[in-house]
Amino acid sequence: MTRADDPAEIAALRPQVEEAPELAAELLGRFRTHPPVRGVTVTELLDPRAAYWRSVHPVPATAEEESRLREGQQLHERLGRYLVPARAREVRVRRNGVVGRIDVLDDRPVELKSTATPPKPDDDLRTSRPSYLEQLAMYGALTEHAEGRLIVVGSGEVAPNSVRVWDVGFGRLDRIEAEMTLRASALREARERHDPMGLPRCAWFERGCSYRAAGVCGCVGSEPPLPTTILDEVGPPKGNPAEADRIGSWLATATSDAGSFARFRELAYPRRAFFDERRDPAGASEPSKFGTPGDETWSALQAVLEGGPPGELEFRHADSGEPAEAVAVFRNEPCLVKSTRSLRPVPADRVVAERPHYLLELGLRCAALGTTSGYLFTGLERVPSDGPWIHAQRVRFESGEVLRSLLERRERDLTASRISGNPASLPACPRWMYDGCPHRDVCGCAADAGGPGS
Ligand code: SF4
Repeated sequence: MTRADDPAEIAALRPQVEEAPELAAELLGRFRTHPPVRGVTVTELLDPRAAYWRSVHPVPATAEEESRLREGQQLHERLGRYLVPARAREVRVRRNGVVGRIDVLDDRPVELKSTATPPKPDDDLRTSRPSYLEQLAMYGALTEHAEGRLIVVGSGEVAPNSVRVWDVGFGRLDRIEAEMTLRASALREARERHDPMGLPRCAWFERGCSYRAAGVCGCVGSEPPLPTTILDEVGPPKGNPAEADRIGSWLATATSDAGSFARFRELAYPRRAFFDERRDPAGASEPSKFGTPGDETWSALQAVLEGGPPGELEFRHADSGEPAEAVAVFRNEPCLVKSTRSLRPVPADRVVAERPHYLLELGLRCAALGTTSGYLFTGLERVPSDGPWIHAQRVRFESGEVLRSLLERRERDLTASRISGNPASLPACPRWMYDGCPHRDVCGCAADAGGPGS
């Protein structure tokens, strides 16, 4: 069985990797003179105490939680495609150190939710779903929109595909933003102190908080509640049954398209994507770590790149809309940001042999945007922050046609496997993915001669 990052296949792309020491020095200088504020996400601001525990002592999601999450992601993906073109989906916005990834940003921010227990049309969302409203209001503040839309779709067996839509107006956006800044600062300080003292009480304190259940969190329930400052600026949600009917009718007839892809990683590691999509939660042996968010070093490097002059780092989509994921573009070229436990960076002439997957992931992004060169940034986790922890390389692929045919081949093979239900033609994942993979019992890659992923 070939591997997805087979060095021979990567070498056939004829990548030329060059060190970019001046660029690395420039970024290090930026880091030292204007230390970036670590980005805090809007979802973290909805429940800062849980966000604190998630970062200092993560509790792996159960297989059932993962299954729910995946179902929600798939629904977001399908519905997003129906509602707007790729450029308006999953829009990343960063302002004053707060980062939002907005499901849909067109003439207003739109938040999509899927839940097995959707609120009733006459529910008071302020009490039944305050976090939905807060999240939408924060997106309004981040993008300076005075109105947003909330779309809630029923999932699971209880209310499949039932749709409710509310239009929501916001009051003083500056007050919402000020409260976001306060919550973000409190969370950053708690992380620096390694102490959640002062963070508001967790919304899930008495509703099955996983950190409490795991004995991680020492909360007692007397912590101060989350301030209502943001909710105070949210106007009464107005039901929009016409939009709900329109979406509901589409969902009732829409079928999923085997030839659409949400993320580049599906094409980089198609065998893993194949099994992730089909995974039976009851049969899953361990939680997945595929696609977990980056660590401190990765986040710091990302913040350095985002902290440059306006337009230096942008997010662009492929004209074809496939994959739907936006590509980070640094100085007009796709870039890939990685972090590593290695003490030393992999030199340019060893990248094909030692980090072929970096070139694979970057090459797919270049192919999607129709370009042949990009940047590879690596953060060295074990190098102190006053040392040379940022490494930059420039990559040029010889032929756009060869890159394009790799992308199309991966798309074609994964589509065919999804339709046939047979992953036989899909390459095994890189060897390093095998240990943490929940599909080892069913995938068959380890049964192949030469061991996992060989
Ligand atoms: S068992 Fe191996 S090839 Fe199969 S999905 Fe997991 S890592 Fe990939």
